Amino acid sequence: MALLLIDDDKDFTQFFSVAIEETGIKCQVLTQPIAILQYDLADIEHIIIDLSMPDFDGLQILRFLKEINYKGYISVTSGQAGTLLESAKEICKLHKLNFHTLLRKPFDIDFLEKFIPFKAKETLSSPYPPEELRSDATLIIQLKKAIKQHKIDVYFQPKFNLKTRQPVGFEALARWSLDNTFVSPEKFIMLAENNHLMSDLTALIIDQSLKYFSLIDEKKNGLGLAINFSSTELRQNGLPDLLLKKAQQYRISTNMITLEITETVLLEKNTMSLEVLTRLRLMGFKLSIDDFGSGYSSVNMLQNGPFTELKVDRMFIDSIQNKPQSKIIVKAIFDMATQLGLNVIAEGIETIDEAEALIQMQYSYGQGFFYSKPMPANAVNEWLRSWK
Ligand code: C2E
Ligand code: MG
Ligand code: MG
Repeated sequence: MALLLIDDDKDFTQFFSVAIEETGIKCQVLTQPIAILQYDLADIEHIIIDLSMPDFDGLQILRFLKEINYKGYISVTSGQAGTLLESAKEICKLHKLNFHTLLRKPFDIDFLEKFIPFKAKETLSSPYPPEELRSDATLIIQLKKAIKQHKIDVYFQPKFNLKTRQPVGFEALARWSLDNTFVSPEKFIMLAENNHLMSDLTALIIDQSLKYFSLIDEKKNGLGLAINFSSTELRQNGLPDLLLKKAQQYRISTNMITLEITETVLLEKNTMSLEVLTRLRLMGFKLSIDDFGSGYSSVNMLQNGPFTELKVDRMFIDSIQNKPQSKIIVKAIFDMATQLGLNVIAEGIETIDEAEALIQMQYSYGQGFFYSKPMPANAVNEWLRSWK
């Protein structure tokens, strides 16, 4: 197994290959980038690519590696200032390449540590198994059965006041366990949407969420409940009445309930959804734009949608410590949303440093693994008691 460095700078390749080989890793070098098209990559476990090269640049190489479905690690290097390297990392992710490290030139000798041992530094911490071996067709049948038998559960993840570290409410997250592993909600919700199962699934999630929420001892202290909805669910004209009926059944005031809505871009083009949103708001429900800034949410909705809250996408919080751009964006979103009278909440807080940076930026509310992971809805009362 070997590492391949693609860089037209001969001095650099010389320095790099000597340094790497001293650690016992074999290093091959390509100074003619276009030669990659004919190169035998069978033994190459890791490719390091310089971004700016004449004739065939790093981005073209990334595209080529995507096309041949290259499975090894990829690191990207550049001497250029600014955000170019970060963009290349994003491109790796979009191509579903196995991204390893960014190397900004010049770098000190410590960089070698990044390559020993060969293991992915940035592995996605996903609670779900890698893309299923099961076919979608089997999954759809099983999903239909699970909905019918009410075998979709809800987990509650607490939201916090960042300063007091007290819980202010919960977000309900759908869980489907199949053969003792969870299927990701994004996956099964997409399957439900494409196979006419969504209205039954929505009804089940609403019922489960409100039922468990009504059993929380302390909800009279102002704890709220948030439920997720995709924009297709909002096209169902019957949704406001269903939610109102369920809220009344479980004796929960509508202003305790927030609907977190993703994909607001799709909403804009649909008057029915805007009508549904407005009716929900008239009934007293709160409305939150989820994953704000992710590309599926739109600033335009802030002008025209009757929203009360904005959730800053996890992607920005994730990079708040090491990307100055993210910090600027997170602060600007806060200022804009606050001036528009919206409640702002940060999602995906994983470290105390992220929490502190957010507090410094005036954020009051947040959610994330640092505070608490999602838990089975029936464990919430116990958790509330132990939290005190
Ligand atoms: P979301 O609404 O943005 O929910 C937050 C997701 O981030 C959840 O993933 C949660 O487990 C995860 N999360 C929370 N804190 C952290 C953290 O600190 N670090 C990291 N890495 N992740 C964190 P989950 O449960 O897998 O849900 C994914 C998405 O699926 C949700 O994103 C939501 O869009 C959708 N979803 C989940 N439940 C439902 C549902 O009942 N209905 C609909 N329509 N969509 C749902
Ligand atoms: Mg959400
Ligand atoms: Mg979100």
